[in-house]
Amino acid sequence: MNQDNDTIAAIATAPGAGGISIVRVSGPAALPIADRLFRGNGPAPSARPGGTFVYGHVHTDHDLDEAVLLIYRAPASYTREDVVEFQGHGGNAAARRLLRAVLQAGARPAEPGEFTQRAFLSGRIDLLQAEAVMDLIQARSERAATAAVEQLEGSLSTAFNRLYDRLIAVAADLEASLDFEEGELPVSTLETLQGQLDTIRADLQTLASGWDEGHLLRDGAMVVIAGKPNVGKSTLMNALLGKPRAIVTDIAGTTRDTLEEQIVINGFPIRLVDTAGIREADCGIEQEGIRRAREQINRADLTLLIIDGSAPLSEEDHTLINAIHSKTTLLVINKVDRGQILFESDFTALRCLSCSVRDGIGVDALKAAIAETLCLQPASTAPHAVISERHLQLIREAERHLNAALQILKDEFESCETIAAAEIRDATERLGRVTGRHYHAELLDTVFSRFCVGK
Ligand code: GDP
Repeated sequence: MNQDNDTIAAIATAPGAGGISIVRVSGPAALPIADRLFRGNGPAPSARPGGTFVYGHVHTDHDLDEAVLLIYRAPASYTREDVVEFQGHGGNAAARRLLRAVLQAGARPAEPGEFTQRAFLSGRIDLLQAEAVMDLIQARSERAATAAVEQLEGSLSTAFNRLYDRLIAVAADLEASLDFEEGELPVSTLETLQGQLDTIRADLQTLASGWDEGHLLRDGAMVVIAGKPNVGKSTLMNALLGKPRAIVTDIAGTTRDTLEEQIVINGFPIRLVDTAGIREADCGIEQEGIRRAREQINRADLTLLIIDGSAPLSEEDHTLINAIHSKTTLLVINKVDRGQILFESDFTALRCLSCSVRDGIGVDALKAAIAETLCLQPASTAPHAVISERHLQLIREAERHLNAALQILKDEFESCETIAAAEIRDATERLGRVTGRHYHAELLDTVFSRFCVGK
């Protein structure tokens, strides 16, 4: 990513029809560009104070659009640079015309996440907060948005910074031990430092445990609805969605592909996938649907395997029950309204629930069972500090260095304090990469390439 202090511009609003579109410009030429393009009453944009807006028109060689110009002056802006935002009419064509005019006036197109990257590089936010911006934009549920806002406000940064500072203090104490006679620390001090390292390691593990919730909030749990044809998969999908989406017919094999929809349970987004009936079929399309269904089941966090509870188990049902891993499966005994002949007690190795999904009976209990199996905390509990895969990997690396340091101190060989301190410094470096105290171009590229242009 280009890190020159040049002036960047992008459309900041989502594509498509909308009330307004915003073209955002950041950098030293933002105000001169606004002077060239914008005509309003009163002083030119560059003569106006920051934190103001002005109504007027965007002109090139002709009138382009009616617009409102927002003026932010460094350092009181998102990027800490001079920023202007042109608010013009919505819609793709109007926004692109406005952007083109800004680029012709001297800005260059911003890369994905470049505004936020500038906010990071200028020290306004750290890397965790920058990531939270993207998490907030991509939040699939209110709970996910709440967790992202907490991270944006610095809750996770504070936790990592405290651990970082504590580790630096331990490393410094060990390094200071070199001043002791024969390089040896008094036993009591050594024990205290080891105790501190142990506590820090435990705190890191607590942070690492936020990954499960983070993963579920960011990516959504994948719940696959499977079963042989005609058992009620599409009906269940519709019942969970609370609206018709999947086609329900009594002709076996109606759902020929997989359908995906999103529901929210306890504030967690759930990706609900309705698979084609899994059975051997001659028809090419259906076989492809079946192949995809098997693929989805393998990737699922939870499979809802449906059987018809009003009929004896078929060979296909047996095959499916045997094929699917019991820990990640809920067996749904459906159509009990027709006279139940299969009961929960018949399947002791599986978690089961009896339902009549067509009539909505047992659907709430099924939602509760989904929440329990996936460990989705009730909506009333506040989201934990949720960490991402990137943070988890760095925590694991930091833990490895701490373990090495503790082992070295235990072995008590000559100069072990110096070597242990070096391991601890490596651990702090990993924590520093989480918050962006330590970074390199590749790390920034990885983080900011997830962003959209204009953010
Ligand atoms: P799929 O092929 O597994 O997706 O099955 P569908 O959802 O298309 O349902 C097949 C047929 O079973 C339809 O006629 C549904 O109305 C019916 N059905 C689904 N659930 C129930 C239920 O709980 N009770 C009864 N009696 N019929 C149901």
